[in-house]
Amino acid sequence: MAPRVVQSEIRAMTAECDRIGGVNLAQGVCDTEVPAAVMEGAMQAMRDGHNIYTRMDGIARLRRAIAGKVAETHGLDPDPEHEVLVASGATGAFHAAAMALLNPGDEVLVFEPFYGYHANTLRSMGAKAVAVAMQEPEGEQEWLLDLGAVRAAITPRTRAMMLNTPSNPAGKVFTRAEVEGLAEIAVEFDLFIFTDEIYEHFIYGGAEHVSPAMLKGMQERTILMSGFSKTFSVTGWRVGYVVADAKWMGAINYFHDLLYVCAPAPFQHGCAAGVEKLGKTFYARLAVEHEEKRGMLADALRVAGMRPHVPDGAYYILASTDKLGGLLDGKTAAEKARSLLAKTGVAAVAGTAFFAVGSGRGEDLLRFCFAKKDEDLMEACRRLEALS
Ligand code: PLP
Repeated sequence: MAPRVVQSEIRAMTAECDRIGGVNLAQGVCDTEVPAAVMEGAMQAMRDGHNIYTRMDGIARLRRAIAGKVAETHGLDPDPEHEVLVASGATGAFHAAAMALLNPGDEVLVFEPFYGYHANTLRSMGAKAVAVAMQEPEGEQEWLLDLGAVRAAITPRTRAMMLNTPSNPAGKVFTRAEVEGLAEIAVEFDLFIFTDEIYEHFIYGGAEHVSPAMLKGMQERTILMSGFSKTFSVTGWRVGYVVADAKWMGAINYFHDLLYVCAPAPFQHGCAAGVEKLGKTFYARLAVEHEEKRGMLADALRVAGMRPHVPDGAYYILASTDKLGGLLDGKTAAEKARSLLAKTGVAAVAGTAFFAVGSGRGEDLLRFCFAKKDEDLMEACRRLEALS
């Protein structure tokens, strides 16, 4: 199956950015420091000989650490023996869970703008991602979910919804009322809710992270997925997890084993050390640091003449270019991203990469990532501001 727009667009921008020596705000690769406890934990594990396959659902130490973590953050009490899977990233988690729980032809609701991997993973197994459009606000606020539109998108083939909160690319943190509304719909139509909570610790300005798994009676139908790529800045380590009811875990484990065998052994130890040793202060500092970066980038985008939708979570800003004129006038989003790169040396992603093909949406939008070292982000901001 041919790769769809989003990855090719991000890769193309990255390649062009490298060629001209620009600052890459296109790719969501956080290049911030790996916490020492995490790094040391992995290196020590290699020295200690943890270099072979692990149990297919991960080492007991990490399964226990994840169970303890979700007890603290979500108020859950999963059995680390039967209800926690250490996966090959949140990406592997979703692939295995979708293979286990969906059949070809099944429909899964995704909230648009959506993360391309979710839609493509579904497509790769013959399931269908059905986009429910969120509304772009007039001002700088977050995108709006219409529960009526969610209901209207349901057909007899709908089996699940994918809730990515905080979301990529919009940075939307779904409110408690929205998550409760979605949970009600899931119960009414007997749907699974797959959650991708990879940005759960990137929450700003008093917003609250709410997972459907936290709501009464929702644990059995929620397939909670998250990981360490973003929190510990280890995107290349491929360690994530699934927390779900034991009745689904056998099949999810089976497909995860088939696809990945296990997550990398020493990196599982590194992540376990991180979860064991880094407490609330670490996660709180991570949010504060990224909130500062968010402020820096949003200011630069305003000075440059764009209208940033300031996100409550994750580490991307979708910015509207509708007022920019001049340089980007009359161009498609992909052309705008290229013109901006040529003119400023800052790479962003065309908004169209996050909308259903043929929807015609996203042409006015560019996505900028702010999970960058301060010096690189400052350089990008300086270049963007020079546009004014
Ligand atoms: N989910 C979302 C929403 C993402 O934005 C990303 C990375 O950009 C991932 C998952 C990838 O997570 P992992 O590295 O754990 O596979």
